[in-house]
Amino acid sequence: MNTLTDSVSPDIQSDLSARSTRAVWHPCTQMKCLDKSPPIAIESGSGPWLTDTSGRRYFDACSSWWVNLFGHANPFINEALRKQLDTLEHTLLAGCTHAPAVELAERLSDLTGNHLGHAFYASDGASAVEIALKMSFHYWRNAGKAEKRSFVCLRQSYHGESIGALSVTDVEIFRDAYAPLLMRTHRVMSPDTRLARVGERADDVVSRALQDVEELFEHQSEGIAAIIVEPMIQCATGMAMYPASYLTELRRLCDRYSVHLIADEIAVGFGRTGKFFAFEHAISEVAAENWPDFMCLSKGLTGGYLPLSVVLVRGGIYDGFLDDDVGRGFLHSHSYTGNPLACRAALATLDLFERDNVLAENSVRAQWLGSALEPVARASWARHTRQLGMVWACDVADCVAGERFAERLMIAARAHEVLLRPIGNTVYLMPPYIFDEPMAAWLGERVGAAIDEALAGGIGHAT
Ligand SMILES: *Cc1c(COP(=O)(O)O)cnc(C)c1O
Repeated sequence: MNTLTDSVSPDIQSDLSARSTRAVWHPCTQMKCLDKSPPIAIESGSGPWLTDTSGRRYFDACSSWWVNLFGHANPFINEALRKQLDTLEHTLLAGCTHAPAVELAERLSDLTGNHLGHAFYASDGASAVEIALKMSFHYWRNAGKAEKRSFVCLRQSYHGESIGALSVTDVEIFRDAYAPLLMRTHRVMSPDTRLARVGERADDVVSRALQDVEELFEHQSEGIAAIIVEPMIQCATGMAMYPASYLTELRRLCDRYSVHLIADEIAVGFGRTGKFFAFEHAISEVAAENWPDFMCLSKGLTGGYLPLSVVLVRGGIYDGFLDDDVGRGFLHSHSYTGNPLACRAALATLDLFERDNVLAENSVRAQWLGSALEPVARASWARHTRQLGMVWACDVADCVAGERFAERLMIAARAHEVLLRPIGNTVYLMPPYIFDEPMAAWLGERVGAAIDEALAGGIGHAT
């Protein structure tokens, strides 16, 4: 099945893929598998499309690992970056500051109604998680409670791959080899709606999950610094969704037992779930006190352009570090902390949210997406179809999926011009916020066809 549309030689494609396999150690990849399924050599991007070196295009249905919001080569962000490039590319942020870092910190704080602020910058999601964990422990230490030093995470959680972040991650395949290096952490039940037993509703799962937290806090909160959660969707373990009531009640438990609440919004922030921050699903106007103590942001922060992350905190946390003693300050740093180009890309991204009324438009786009995927949702093998904002997912029944379903679907989807990265038996779409109704319909058809082929096993080979 060869749908090459122009005359660029496929040799360039295979050459670059082969060189990459020799020279580049690819992330999250058993390199031995690349012989059979080599990486696609991407040459350019435009809007939702990525084009490879042989001229084939792919709809970026996973937003290049959940980072891209407004398409590739977005003219508005490009222009902002060009200007910044001619002004200041980088400077250190210790002893110096610059407009992009300051403006971004102010605007992010405004977006939380100024409940959170004091932006601490880093370069990727895992670093933001490390920062939040260290800050939480250091806060309690400064407060004379150094015994509050352990962390709680949810089952099926994912918070990144560095040693600290991996310690609060519950994905066996990522943790297994490094288990001896990791901090001991507490794990509590996930509120994943799919865990409902016969006769249970989503709220019943939430109740059980909260009970698990409360039992732990009751006995051990004196030794616990913080609990970390992915608000509304545990993305990396298959887009597990749960009701906002879990977050509201968790906030109460954290207050009652003096445990910090860290919201890891790295994947779900920036409009992904329909609210600007996913935690806002749990915050009504009258319950402003529901904001978490720490919020980690990255991925969509720069519109998918440059590596940048940030941790926002409550004022009380920040105050706990102010002292004449230098050692009571947060002496953490990264070389590229607050890089001006990355901050500028983030500012341009926030401008687009304002200019185009993105949250309102996305609620319409989300409906297009859901309707386009209805035939998939109705298939006999589809389980637990779910959608929150611009995340759509369903599971393929185990008995139907067979061996290595994710890989088969990924390859089948490529032939249909769609870039998908299924997680186990979970098919998900997390597209950039720039498609119209016909494009959603096209996507739904192509994804449906690719799944049918993957399940029929009739996809030939990867090209
Ligand atoms: C991707 C992700 C991270 C890690 O971010 P990196 O930039 O890959 O280090 C942490 N938490 C969540 C919820 C994520 O989705």
